[in-house]
Amino acid sequence: MKHDPNCIFCKIAAGQIPAKKVYEDDELLVFHDINPWAPVHVLVIPKEHVATLADTGPEHEALLGRMLALAPKLMRELGVSNGFRVVVNNGPDGGQEVYHLHMHVMGGPRPWAKG
Ligand code: 5GP
Ligand code: ZN
Repeated sequence: MKHDPNCIFCKIAAGQIPAKKVYEDDELLVFHDINPWAPVHVLVIPKEHVATLADTGPEHEALLGRMLALAPKLMRELGVSNGFRVVVNNGPDGGQEVYHLHMHVMGGPRPWAKG
């Protein structure tokens, strides 16, 4: 599995930096965003280092499907019952700050800090 020693999310996946984890399996990790925009704001990441959504290929289709399929399950488990938002920022113009693929899943009562 590919890792980048300078990547903050690789370090979280390796347990070198602490995070409030909500889900983990062989391929995926989910943890609370350190600077939440919504009452519930988690990040779904692959444990493998993939920099952006634009760096994924056919070999990642199952992984991407698993990431998206996890969202409603996580929101249910975290008590979000009135809808949620899924966001993947991609590249500079997409506002991506951390270059390790991640999916924001946000829910909970409004107003939110962003959006
Ligand atoms: P992006 O703009 O790249 O889509 O979002 C990166 C997200 O990662 C931001 O919402 C930011 O708050 C979150 N983040 C950055 N560093 C850390 C960290 O060390 N721990 C956690 N839990 N979240 C982080
Ligand atoms: Zn990484």
